[in-house]
Formats: sequence, C-alpha cells, structure tokens
Amino acid sequence: MADKDLYAVLGVSRNATADELKIAFRNKAKEFHPDVHVGDKKAAEEKFKEIGEAYQILSNPEKRNIYDQVGYEGMKGRGGSQQYSGGFEDMGDMFGDISDIFGDLFGFSGGAGKRGGGSGRSRRRSGDDIRYDSALTLEDIAFGRTETVEVGRKEACDTCKGLGIKPGTGKSTCKTCGGAGKVRQSSGFFSVVTTCPTCGGAGETAEHYCDDCGGSGVRMKKRKIEVKIPAGVEEGQYIKLNGEGNSGINGGPSGDLYVVVNLKHHEIYRRESDDIFLDVPVTLLQAVCGDDIEIPTIYGNYKLKIPAGTQNNEEIVIKGKGLPILNSQGKGDMRVVIHVEVPKGINSKLKEAYKNVKVLESEDNYEAVKRAFRTFKKYKKGVE
Ligand SMILES: [Zn+2]
Ligand SMILES: [Zn+2]
Repeated sequence: MADKDLYAVLGVSRNATADELKIAFRNKAKEFHPDVHVGDKKAAEEKFKEIGEAYQILSNPEKRNIYDQVGYEGMKGRGGSQQYSGGFEDMGDMFGDISDIFGDLFGFSGGAGKRGGGSGRSRRRSGDDIRYDSALTLEDIAFGRTETVEVGRKEACDTCKGLGIKPGTGKSTCKTCGGAGKVRQSSGFFSVVTTCPTCGGAGETAEHYCDDCGGSGVRMKKRKIEVKIPAGVEEGQYIKLNGEGNSGINGGPSGDLYVVVNLKHHEIYRRESDDIFLDVPVTLLQAVCGDDIEIPTIYGNYKLKIPAGTQNNEEIVIKGKGLPILNSQGKGDMRVVIHVEVPKGINSKLKEAYKNVKVLESEDNYEAVKRAFRTFKKYKKGVE
C-alpha cells in the first residue's frame, strides 16, 4: 500500500511555507467540517480528521522533518518512540494552534450556514481592527482638520443585541460534547482533548440562531466617524481610534480604527519633513539685477526679495513658513528654489542690447566660468 502523502492531503507542494500550509489547512478544514458538510457526514468527519492530522505534523518543523525522511507509515512504525507514541494531550501546545485556527475558521464565518455551529458562537472574541487610508492635502496637514471617515464595520446585531440567539429562544446542551465543552478527537495514532468546535467550550448551543445575523451577533454597518487630524502629521503615521473597529463577539472588546495619513500630490508645493519647497522661475534680468516678487505660501502671500546676482537653483529660505512640527510650537521653513530662465526667441534688437552688456562685463562677473576655463587650460594639448 502506498504511503499516505500528507502534502497531498492538504493540497500543497512539498516545499510549502508555513503560511501556505496554514491557508491550505483552513480551506480544507472549512470544506470538510462535519457540521458544514451536509452530504456524507461520516466521510467528511474522516477527511476532517485526516486534514487535522496532516496539518499537525507538517506545521511542526521537527515532525515535518521526520515525516519527510521516513514517511507516514515510518512515523507510525516508531510506536515505541516516546515522541510518537500518541497521547499528545499531555503536550498542551500541540493542538493549541489548531484550536485557534478552528476558532478563526468558524468564529466569524456567518457564511458557514445557519446550522453550522461554530466555536465563535459562544466564545468571546475581540473584533478586528480596521485600516482607513486618508488622502490629505498639504493644507490639511498645515492646519490640522477634522476628517469625516466613512467605514463599513461589524457592529452588534440590533435584533439579538449581539448574542446571536433568536429573541425569545433559549439555549440547550451542546450535542457534540454533551455539555462538557471539550471533546476527545482521535485520529490514527494520536488522540487529543480539545475545546468543543460546536459550542466553543461553553457546553451549550442556541436553540435558534438569530435570523438577521446568522448567529454571529454582528452585522455590517456603514458609519461616519469624525477623526481629528493633528497639524504636522507625517505620511505613514496613523491616528488610532480605540474601540472604533469591528465589534467583538459575545461581549469581546471591539477592535480599533487606524486612520493612515496619506498626502495628496500638491500642484506647487513639495513636502520634505517639516519644510515646504516651492520652485520659482525668474527671468535672467531678475536674477542679475534682483527684484521684489510676490509668492504664495500656505499661510498667504509673501513678498520675496530676489537679491541681485541670484544663481540658478539657489535656495532662499523663509523661516517659519513651513509645516507645524508635530507636538511642538515650532514650524519648519519654506524653501524657495530659484530657476533662472534664459530668454528664448530673441529678436535682433534684444540681441544687440545683450551685446552692449557684454562690453561692460568682465570675467570677474563669472566665477564658475573663470575657474573652469583656468582648469581646462591644464588639459588643452594644442590644436588638432
Ligand atoms: Zn442577531
Ligand atoms: Zn460543545
């Protein structure tokens, strides 16, 4: 008889990662959960156990390693070995992971069907966090603002008040565990006591689950939540609103809402930390002779003095016109980057005028030109 291929049981490749194993296990376990599987329940149960066993071995690096070497029958054959002689219930953490996954699997899944009793129905579970991506303008960040955030989140079902039980009906002893809250699962060479997957350890189940929420106790609702965005927040930072995430199950605490700060592209400003950059083109004449110009800042217009002899790409710093520094009274700077534009489309008259300028200039007016040509001389080797 061919040896059992545990990888095939989970439908993964032999080099599957831990995450891949986990996902495959979840999907398979969902598919074959005896409570969900309405077809051949007995066969589903067998398959379910098989899946659990395969995952238990493969999710443990040590066991996976041994399985890879000796195969399934080989592992079973080591009956005398302490490690594989069964009785895993003594090793508390062995099944812990799987119980957790069962919780994940069936706790939140209202979709598992009305009769698909899951552990979450009775188990306290905290709600999931919600992430919301904001799109803020630079002005929002400069002045801070109150943003109205619309999120879809799970809230306690109005009909059953979050209990998951149809109003007017009660609870009865869990048929799976007979009220004990624990079940012994045996599969092949091991047997384990775990929390009852049907009642989640509570020992009782609802007679009728709530029709409106399918027994989960929560329903999706759209909510508008006001979020105060403090001035000076940086991209990638988030504002955490405690308890504004998804509702917990069975009285579990709600998750949190995280509003992530994203900055929209600005038509003229560029942010670098607390400073704001603005590119300002000037004419050649303005750069040469200097000028007073008016530029915008996020705080209003500003009279900027272009000093005579301003160079291309020179930065003029305006103190305190940048963004507020978070949790401080201070502000960053505005950095004006000057771009000197050389005139184009020059007519003969203008050309004449520039030639007249040339007469008045000396090489001392052009530091870089002077320096460069001196250096170049060293490399000149006569005319070709
Ligand atoms: Zn309900
Ligand atoms: Zn039970």
